[in-house]
Amino acid sequence: MKGMRFYPGLIVFVCASFVCAQTNDDPEVARAKAGIDRLRALVEAGALPRAQLQKAEEQIVDAQDAAYLRKTLYGQELTAEQSDEMIAAANRRFERRKKAFDEAQKLVEAGVASQLSLATFLDELDMTRRECDLAESRAKLTVALAEMAKAEESLENKLSQEPAEAPQIAERFDGDGLFTVLTFTKVESAFTNHFGKPLPVSAMGDTPVHRALGFDHRGRVDVAINPDQPEGVWLREYLTANKIPFFAFRQAVPGKATGAHIHLGPMSTHLKLGG
Ligand SMILES: [Zn+2]
Repeated sequence: MKGMRFYPGLIVFVCASFVCAQTNDDPEVARAKAGIDRLRALVEAGALPRAQLQKAEEQIVDAQDAAYLRKTLYGQELTAEQSDEMIAAANRRFERRKKAFDEAQKLVEAGVASQLSLATFLDELDMTRRECDLAESRAKLTVALAEMAKAEESLENKLSQEPAEAPQIAERFDGDGLFTVLTFTKVESAFTNHFGKPLPVSAMGDTPVHRALGFDHRGRVDVAINPDQPEGVWLREYLTANKIPFFAFRQAVPGKATGAHIHLGPMSTHLKLGG
């Protein structure tokens, strides 16, 4: 029996140190962790109900999810792998709030708590629901960016291996070969004047996704416009008339309309070149 009593404590200890090792520096996690040893001791001594310890442990996990969202959802750089975990963390936070809200509502229905007490739970529920939506759209954007960069990679491969097939991936226009900040400003305002909305820039110069593929995308701009949609048709005509170099990507994967975009400027150079 003595051995049996030892195990739960050991498991909690192992989990807690794992939690600690994972998010060493996050203040919210540290705050959630603070005092849990004391709480555990009090629970073991029978001075506090076990549910209180479980609640504190749940707070640690929730703080961990919040820390992850701060890094990914509101952070600068995001990989496709991270975006799955980001959505999962946002969903877990929503589910916890949903559970709390349902419990609070039961108390109201039972006449134990006032309707007014639900407000805070409802606010938190709304906040985490918005976080889920944000995570979904951020993940979609990340996937789209990766597909656009991959389309540029497959064009490079074609050009070096089977140049005759390259036009299947992208329409190429060399223009006068020049693309500067001034050129970009011109394109941007012409587009806005014509369509009454900003140019949907998806990659402005260097991005982590391009860098990961070994591309130097500095001085280039990707626009998330399908070349065959009216906006894309207009843009290609404008670029051609003004001798501005571009690549119009129709599809990254044959048969799938993914990665479609218009790359403004000359082709990216390879970061590894010469090295
Ligand atoms: Zn590009």
